[in-house]
Amino acid sequence: MTGNSCGGPTLRQTAKTMSKTVITPTPGILVGRPIGPQVICVRGPSRSGKTSLCERLVAGLGQSGLRVAYLKRTHHLLDLPGKSSARLWDTGPALMVLRATDRLQVTHGPGEGTAAELLQQVPHDIDVVLFETHAPEPYPAILSEDAEPVEGELVIGSWSLDGIDAAAAQHLATIASLVPRDRALDRTLRIALAFHGGHACPGMVLGARLAVTAGRALELALPDRRKRLFVVSETDRCGADAIQTVTGCRPGKRTMKFLDYGKLAARFLDAETGRAIRVSTRSGLRDIARDRFPGPDRHASQMRAYLDLPAEELFTISPVQWSLGLYEQPGPPVRRVECADCGEEVSDGREVPAARGLLCQACAGPDTARGGTTAQREV
Ligand SMILES: [Zn+2]
Ligand SMILES: [Zn+2]
Repeated sequence: MTGNSCGGPTLRQTAKTMSKTVITPTPGILVGRPIGPQVICVRGPSRSGKTSLCERLVAGLGQSGLRVAYLKRTHHLLDLPGKSSARLWDTGPALMVLRATDRLQVTHGPGEGTAAELLQQVPHDIDVVLFETHAPEPYPAILSEDAEPVEGELVIGSWSLDGIDAAAAQHLATIASLVPRDRALDRTLRIALAFHGGHACPGMVLGARLAVTAGRALELALPDRRKRLFVVSETDRCGADAIQTVTGCRPGKRTMKFLDYGKLAARFLDAETGRAIRVSTRSGLRDIARDRFPGPDRHASQMRAYLDLPAEELFTISPVQWSLGLYEQPGPPVRRVECADCGEEVSDGREVPAARGLLCQACAGPDTARGGTTAQREV
């Protein structure tokens, strides 16, 4: 799960390090995870009314417009033995998809059954995950009165078997208040998080906010699916992953390029209107994060700041001159030549005219290349 350039804590580690036993959640702020969905455990022993409470919460949250997922581990078999789908599953397919009149069911092998593994099945557009469980998990919990909190468990409420309706009404309000106010941004961040290897870090969050800010400034719906938006990222670190996912621009579409200036900044061109801007990160943000969101974990403070501060405090937007040259357009290459030295094919005017013919930049070498490629000469 590593491989990013940041090295911040993983979601699971973040959750594990919390030690309070009872918390009063802050409205609009996810508990236990920097980026959604908000996971809430409904925990208690058998026959404590877990499922009854979950039924009420799923229905109630759905009525308030939230998309809810329900997770549970069971020791029972899913199919009755002898049913045709059970016999078929016993023959060992890697995956089974069954569409019945009331639902579509995708069946995988049982896996290890860890919470992280179950959560991987939850798509990006889910706002709240209700996790019915006997065992404590590193997420905030609504606890049965018949269960004892364990060390480090984040308990946000409780219920008793004879007070399920009242408890459901109360917890519905609490859970709804925990969902980030900007749900569109939160969903965007979840997609960026998945692309970034599930690794939430300040650079990724800042890159996502930067790209969202550019989209709003250019009044463009993101992600762009029409090859209308072009981006030059000035970083090749974590932020670049987020810029790519949020904008929908990518190198393979020729809509994203890198100019590695080592800056968390990017230029954006709306090819339809010709408007181009540069969005750059203000300096001193780490100090602002430390002062405004103090805490022992500097990554968590930065993440909170980069999620919550208004875009004007995070970024500077300035107009830039940028138009696409003949050789920068998406679509098939307008020009292909063979290098006179190595014989390899060179696309898009990247060859260098030289005395001995057209050369690729590697064969032309730095001195000969100084006169510029065909694309550069024709700008
Ligand atoms: Zn990162
Ligand atoms: Zn060559």
